[in-house]
Amino acid sequence: MTDRSPLRDLSAPPFATRHIGPDDAEQARMLEAVGYASVADLVAVAVPELIRAEGPLELPGAASETEAIAELRALASRNQVLTSMIGLGYHDTITPAVIRRNLLENPGWYTAYTPYQPEISQGRLEALLNFQTVISDLTGLDVAGASLLDEATAAAEAMTLARRAGRAKSPVFVVDADTLPQTKAVLATRAEPLGIELAEADLAEGLPDGELFAVLVQYPGASGRLKDFRAVADEAHARGALVVAAADLLALTLTEAPGFLGADIAVGSSQRFGVPLGFGGPHAAYMSVREGLQRQMPGRLVGVSQDADGRPAYRLALQTREQHIRREKATSNICTAQVLLAVIAGMYAVYHGPEGLRLIARRVHRHAAILAAGLRGGGVEVVHDAFFDTVLARVPGRAAGVVSAARDRGVNLRLVDADHVGVTCDEKTTGDHLTAVWEAFGVDGVVLDDLDTAASDALPAELLRTTDYLTHPVFHSHRSETAMLRYLRRLQDKDIALDRSMIPLGSCTMKLNATTEMEPITWPELAGIHPYAPADQVGGYLALIGDLERWLAEVTGYDAVSLQPNAGSQGEFAGLLAIRAYHRANGELERDVCLIPSSAHGTNAASAVMAGMRVVVVACDDQGNVDVADLDAKIAKHRDRLAAIMVTYPSTHGVYEETITAICERVHEAGGQVYVDGANLNALVGLAKPGAFGADVSHLNLHKTFCIPHGGGGPGVGPVAVRAHLAPYLPGHPLEDDAPVGPVSAAPYGSAGILPISWAYVRMMGGEGLKAATEQAILSANYLARRLAPHYPVLYTGREGLVAHECIVDLRQITKETGVTVDDVAKRLVDYGFHAPTMSFPVAGTLMIEPTESEDLAELDRFCDAMIAIRGEIAKVASGAYDRADNPLRGAPHTADCLVADDWKHPYTRTEAAYPVPALREGKYWSPVRRIDQAYGDRNLVCSCPPLEAYED
Ligand SMILES: *Cc1c(COP(=O)(O)O)cnc(C)c1O
Repeated sequence: MTDRSPLRDLSAPPFATRHIGPDDAEQARMLEAVGYASVADLVAVAVPELIRAEGPLELPGAASETEAIAELRALASRNQVLTSMIGLGYHDTITPAVIRRNLLENPGWYTAYTPYQPEISQGRLEALLNFQTVISDLTGLDVAGASLLDEATAAAEAMTLARRAGRAKSPVFVVDADTLPQTKAVLATRAEPLGIELAEADLAEGLPDGELFAVLVQYPGASGRLKDFRAVADEAHARGALVVAAADLLALTLTEAPGFLGADIAVGSSQRFGVPLGFGGPHAAYMSVREGLQRQMPGRLVGVSQDADGRPAYRLALQTREQHIRREKATSNICTAQVLLAVIAGMYAVYHGPEGLRLIARRVHRHAAILAAGLRGGGVEVVHDAFFDTVLARVPGRAAGVVSAARDRGVNLRLVDADHVGVTCDEKTTGDHLTAVWEAFGVDGVVLDDLDTAASDALPAELLRTTDYLTHPVFHSHRSETAMLRYLRRLQDKDIALDRSMIPLGSCTMKLNATTEMEPITWPELAGIHPYAPADQVGGYLALIGDLERWLAEVTGYDAVSLQPNAGSQGEFAGLLAIRAYHRANGELERDVCLIPSSAHGTNAASAVMAGMRVVVVACDDQGNVDVADLDAKIAKHRDRLAAIMVTYPSTHGVYEETITAICERVHEAGGQVYVDGANLNALVGLAKPGAFGADVSHLNLHKTFCIPHGGGGPGVGPVAVRAHLAPYLPGHPLEDDAPVGPVSAAPYGSAGILPISWAYVRMMGGEGLKAATEQAILSANYLARRLAPHYPVLYTGREGLVAHECIVDLRQITKETGVTVDDVAKRLVDYGFHAPTMSFPVAGTLMIEPTESEDLAELDRFCDAMIAIRGEIAKVASGAYDRADNPLRGAPHTADCLVADDWKHPYTRTEAAYPVPALREGKYWSPVRRIDQAYGDRNLVCSCPPLEAYED
């Protein structure tokens, strides 16, 4: 009995069959339900001929998982991991292994979505509240948010916050000369379109004369200098200006909090709290403000409220400030933030506690103090007497030689200029590193132990911390690894992430984040690289980045790609800046109108405002398409001032608009540029290319279409892709000020550390696999629409009643007739074990469902069955079989606690509440809280850890 099939017929199935949920047989059943003979037939009808791309994607053939990992290993080995003492706001750190494995590398944490459905997000919301408490305590300010994108953009957000909230009319923002150079560069990019004037000043000399609306101090400075800014703050306040401090969190464990020195706003990075360098990111930045400014804060803010049973429960507070609600009047364009990284930083503080953090900070400081003493002893001039972790040495004419000698000894230093070298100590610094540095400076024979006793501290007495921090029990209760492990597990268990069930969020593309894609991100050769390490040490990263840029250009039909923007919103901003710079280069300074359809994502309008544009809204017709007559009218009205149109394709209504090419032509004819928001690229990859069907620029969301996990609300990567004429205007390098447009992120390649995820995805799918994924995504959405349509009306469809990769079900009539709202359905889905679809976007009173290609037929059916069963419950409300005010929908979600209560008073049974479909008896997700009262939490705003008594009955 021999099977002599050749080896090629025995090869493992391609990765695409793991990524794509349905197999051939399931696909055939779905096609039958939708009424098409093949996927090609379906796509031929669904996707307009006008936009279809000819021919296959020119990408390398699909690699297996094993091959892709081997290639990534080879790339990683081309990076050289030296000891980084460069500083500049990025510090090596030890990610505690219990946190690395059980949080950073754990899909229970990294595959979660932004906590917009708070009942199923209590775990990560508690973790974020810890983060906010750390920030608020260490900075000495009242309210902290749940992460910003990086320190430089956080400083820019503080600048615009101060402009909005402050009373001063002046357009001048004064920046400390000793601010991180990349922060200055990003501030310049962000200030110019808004008419803000930056004035750099050496604040050691005091605040310069003249009007200002705010001042930014770096504490400690980029040069390491630690100085008291109380006098500057007092003077600024006396002149009606606000004070922003960019502060180092580890330094703050020893030095006085900026809030007590007079800062109104503090910003900075939490990277050195256990988050790997990753060649620049992702890391969580922070912002905290004094009481009174919280309603003006950018980004997300976790707050405490209570659930239907009056128990404390967490949820996002003050959401009415955000871009998805306020659009061009939002406090900022930030949507995706850095949740996973904020959670890591918060857990680092939970694990170490205040004493542990102080110990780390003391060790860092002592290393720096000893380093300085050794240099001085060897005749090297140390510029500043007061510092925390960074020693600035003056070596006239010798700086490059010192840096190179250190490199030969395995250490990277900062070359400040021809005469100055910066040396920064961190959690990983050892005596051997100090010896290597001394040798590089030509200082020999230093005996570390002698200096250890002799060298005095370099923290000025007037800046020593006098105030307490991290007094909450959570920072004192998880000190053993066992306790930490269980705390992480307990929080994880409260949440629904992709490791439990499908997350059908329209526009968010919650698809598989494959393990093979995720594995490389914690490899030392990728995680341990400083963003400003010398280019000859990062060959592997540069090759990987080059590959990904080329592949994304091929997929989108554009000519050039920048991976710098670290969220979709930042890609939008970068793309609009490119358009703005292009018009200016053509002498068309007056072009500042940005047309945006009413269905657009809120970030679009917010980004346009940041880029100095005026938003003009274009109406949509009954079919959900851009109203071409209104578009023509708006173009005619604003013809001479038209800068751009920003359209999402396929539209957020989930349809392929037939008129897209005509829209592009009309806007071009009027001299405008076309921005296609590429967040919905999962409906296009392999089938159509925005750069080829008429658009000039797009951003993509690698955390949607290209498999970077959502992390519970970040990180993300939002590359901007452009046609050749806009390529000169892509974001510049943060430390090289020669580009026509400045940087939009602090690091040259933004969140480089997670690019291997998207690289691996494209590498393992190949052109055919990517196309197959898109086709399946379209089929799955249409299958869902077909199954749900008899029960819920599907709002918009394109040709032959087909949708694109997502569909909107309309509950407005149901709500009118029965009082059951989208909220009720969303919360009831929790009882069925599901995360709700996108609620009330882009149309209020609807649910937008995006299944993605990764869900198999059984899971799609389980979701449809739940939706249909819920429709049956709604019917009982309509018929009177269920009470209108007290029914399983209104009561959802149900906790185990409320179900076992001795006094069950509801007219429906406990079984109806808990096990509406029998399959739930096999495995049930229990919501940890009942429905959360949103308004209560906004009225009683609490944004740091509540005392334990709050949890007592
Ligand atoms: C997700 C999304 C964005 C914003 O992306 P972020 O990464 O969250 O900033 C913009 N537009 C659309 C249509 C989106 O779905």
